[in-house]
Amino acid sequence: MSIEIASVTKSFGSHKALKDVSLSIPDGTFFVVLGPSGCGKSTLLRTIAGLEPIDSGEIALGGETVARDGYHLEPERRKTGVVFQSYALWPHMSVAANVAFPMETAGLKTADIKSRTNEHLATVELTAFRDRKPADLSGGQRQRVALARCLAQGAKTVLMDEPLANLDPHLRGAMEEELAAFHKASGATTLFITHDQREAMALADQVAVMWDGEILQVAEPDVLYRRPTSRRVAGFIGRSSLVGVEVNHVEAGYANVTLAAHRIDVDCPNDTRTGSATLMLRPEHLVPSVGGHGLKANVERTIYRGGFWEVFVAIEGLTEPLLMTLNRPAAPGETLFLDILRGWILPEQLAFSS
Ligand code: ADP
Ligand code: MG
Repeated sequence: MSIEIASVTKSFGSHKALKDVSLSIPDGTFFVVLGPSGCGKSTLLRTIAGLEPIDSGEIALGGETVARDGYHLEPERRKTGVVFQSYALWPHMSVAANVAFPMETAGLKTADIKSRTNEHLATVELTAFRDRKPADLSGGQRQRVALARCLAQGAKTVLMDEPLANLDPHLRGAMEEELAAFHKASGATTLFITHDQREAMALADQVAVMWDGEILQVAEPDVLYRRPTSRRVAGFIGRSSLVGVEVNHVEAGYANVTLAAHRIDVDCPNDTRTGSATLMLRPEHLVPSVGGHGLKANVERTIYRGGFWEVFVAIEGLTEPLLMTLNRPAAPGETLFLDILRGWILPEQLAFSS
């Protein structure tokens, strides 16, 4: 089912948790809402599930309006499966019975329930724990029971609120792959909420970046990384340096800019104009040049990141150091000559250009 959210607002007292939020999520999409803690992600998910009424706007699931102007369809009639950060399992039932429960309610055949319960338990690596009660499991194990139960529901729309947040790193990676495989197989529209950009990048068809009750940008992970529309998104996704440049001229698809007295070509939005602008440089855009040409840079400090070094380099004429990576250690004070391979002019700076 598609999910349509149009101009939804939601306040708690004087706090605006959702400020005019609009999102259009096509049927079958794995859609991730990414944002820092407290920005309104869970509130958004709860309004879609029907656990929270909205103040204004409209929500439609599969073309059917479920919330608008005082109209509020009950959660159990919205055909959505929900996995929460923390949630209740049936305490009196075993792990296997918890997973089987939604299939029993749906009236599946006993043999099918049995085999699918086994399948889902294997997926979340809980086969050995099938007869335990939830009270005798760790937090991460309970999380996995809830995920298995969600898989068993076979819901057309699955809403997940940071379901992997409490898992060990190795299990998290495995669960990411399971979720991606499950999504592909089931075709269920999935709305997945996280504060972890790495997780968002790994799972999403589309990512919405949320900040203080607002959606800042919606894009494919790769586009979000390469072409953020604002300083905030650039700063929240991956690592980057932001520097002031002069745009000299603009050609189809790229701009020639002056950065610390060097002229380079970088990517830019279509409507870029000449004048001052902000250039985003990802660490991989800066590489050591061949033959001692290029931008002269002085190593300020380095941090070992396992397999590579993050290096902050000072450039004459720039107030802030630029961040790059090297596959060898570099000593503070060392001189490097750099090529700048690309970069991206931030569109929001157009307002300040001449
Ligand atoms: P996130 O999931 O992104 O961490 P939430 O949606 O849980 O953020 O919360 C967004 C904001 O709304 C927070 O400031 C939170 O304190 C507030 N909030 C959420 N639920 C309630 C509530 N039931 N009553 C009052 N304030 C709430
Ligand atoms: Mg939350």
